[in-house]
Amino acid sequence: MTEIDSTLFEEKVLQGGKVVVDFYSTECPPCEALAPKFEAMAGLYGDKISFYKIFRQENRALAEQLGVRSSPTLLFFENGVQTTEPISGGIKKSDIIARLDAMLTPDEVASIKCRQKPLFSEYDVAILGGGPAGLTAGIYLGQAKINTVLIDSALPGGYMGITHQISNYPGFEKPQPGFMLAHYMSEQAKQSGIDFKVAVDITSVDLRKKEIVIDGLETIRAKKIIIATGTSPNPMNVPGEKEYKGKGLSYCATCDAKYFVDKDVAVIGGGNSAVEEALFITRFAKKVTIIHRSEKFRANEIAIEQALAHPKIEVLFGHRPKGFVRKEDKMETMIENVKTGETRPLLTDGVFVFIGLKPNVEVFGSHLPESDDWGYILTDDEMRTNLPDIYAVGDVVSKKFRQITTAVADGTIAAISVSKEL
Ligand SMILES: Cc1cc2nc3c(=O)[nH]c(=O)nc-3n(C[C@H](O)[C@H](O)[C@H](O)COP(=O)(O)OP(=O)(O)OC[C@H]3O[C@@H](n4cnc5c(N)ncnc54)[C@H](O)[C@@H]3O)c2cc1C
Repeated sequence: MTEIDSTLFEEKVLQGGKVVVDFYSTECPPCEALAPKFEAMAGLYGDKISFYKIFRQENRALAEQLGVRSSPTLLFFENGVQTTEPISGGIKKSDIIARLDAMLTPDEVASIKCRQKPLFSEYDVAILGGGPAGLTAGIYLGQAKINTVLIDSALPGGYMGITHQISNYPGFEKPQPGFMLAHYMSEQAKQSGIDFKVAVDITSVDLRKKEIVIDGLETIRAKKIIIATGTSPNPMNVPGEKEYKGKGLSYCATCDAKYFVDKDVAVIGGGNSAVEEALFITRFAKKVTIIHRSEKFRANEIAIEQALAHPKIEVLFGHRPKGFVRKEDKMETMIENVKTGETRPLLTDGVFVFIGLKPNVEVFGSHLPESDDWGYILTDDEMRTNLPDIYAVGDVVSKKFRQITTAVADGTIAAISVSKEL
C-alpha cells in the first residue's frame, strides 16, 4: 500500500487499472480503526488491485472534487471509473471484501480465499468490548498473569474515546480529553500483557461453546467470557447525527452540561431522561429548548411539572429533528413540525440527545444471558450472568447509574472474581 497525493492521482488511480483509495484524516478514530484492515486487505489482494492512501486534509480540492465529505472514505476504481458506491465512516472489513471481490473474477477470488488460512486460539478469558469496563477487567487479569484476550469491533476506549472532556474521573486535577483517558487505559491494559484484537469484525459469538469468531477467519475459544459491549444511543436516523456525535451532539448531561454555562442548548427527547437531564442542564445553560415529537412528555409527573414551569425551559411539542449542521461554533438543528411538515432551523450552542440507549447484545443472537425488560444483562454482585462462565460488566449491565467509574468498578469485580475461579 502506498501513500500518494493529488499530483499522482491521475497516473496512479485514473490510469492504474483496478484501484482502491483510502481518504483518511488525522485525529479520526474510524480512520485508525480502518488502517490495519486496509493494510491486511492490501496484503491479500495487492497483486490484483492497487491500494493507495491519500491524506484528505492536505488534498482537500481533490477530495471535494470526488465528493469525499467524511473520513475515512474508500473509493473503488476500474480503468479510471468508480465501480461502486464509496464507503465511509466505521467501515467493516466484510464490506471492503465484498467490494474487492466484486472487482475480480470468481477464479481470482477463489485463489485469494485459498490463501486465507483459518486461525484458532485459546485463552483463559476473552473480554468482548474494550471500553473502560473491559479495559479495567483486562488490566486486572493481565496483572494476575491470566491468559486474556480483549476483542473490540472498534478501537479500544469505548465512549471515552468520543467524549470531548472528562472531568469526573478521579486522579486528574484538570479535565482530560476523552481520547487521552482512553489511550492511558488501553496502554495500561496492553502493558499488563493481555492480547488485543481490535477493529475486527465480530462474525459470531457462541456463549454456550464460549467461542468467538472474528473477521470470518479466526476462532477464539475461552474458558470464561466477560461481556463489556456497552450501549448505543437509539439512532435518530437523520443527517449529521453520525458526524457530530461527541462534537456538538452530546449524550451525557452529567458529563457535558458544565461546558454550556450561559449558553443556549437544545434537548431532544421527551422521556424521563430527557426531562430530568433538561432540568439538570438549566443549572448551567441560560436557555434549554426541549424538542419532543409527541404532544406530551412520557416522564414522571414531578419532573414534568418542574420542566413546564421552569423559566429557562421552552418546549417544542410536536417537533422532531430532521438534521444537524455545524455553523461556526454553533449547531443548527433543522426541526420539523410533525403535523404541518413545516421545517425551520434552530441555532443553539449544543444539542443533547436523550431518546434512549440500547444495550449492545445483538451479537449474541438468541442465546442471551437473562436480561431485564430493556435488554440489559442481569448479574449477581460478582458480575456473573445466569450462563456458566459468562460475566457482564459496564453499561450493558442492568443498573441505575452508567458512568466510567461504575464501569471500571464492574470490570474490577469481574476480573477479581474470575481470577479466583481459574
Ligand atoms: C458522549 C458521552 C459522554 C460521556 N461522558 C462521561 C463523562 O464525562 N464521565 C463519565 O463518567 N461517564 C461519561 N459517559 C458515560 C460513560 O462513557 C459510560 O458509562 C462508559 O463508557 C461505559 O463503559 P463500558 O466499557 O461499559 O462501555 P463503552 O464505553 O460503551 O464501551 C463498549 C465497547 O464495546 C465495543 N463493542 C460494542 N459491541 C461490540 C461487539 N459486539 N463486539 C466487540 N466489541 C463491541 C465498543 O466498540 C466499545 O469499545 C459518557 C457517555 C457518552 C455517550
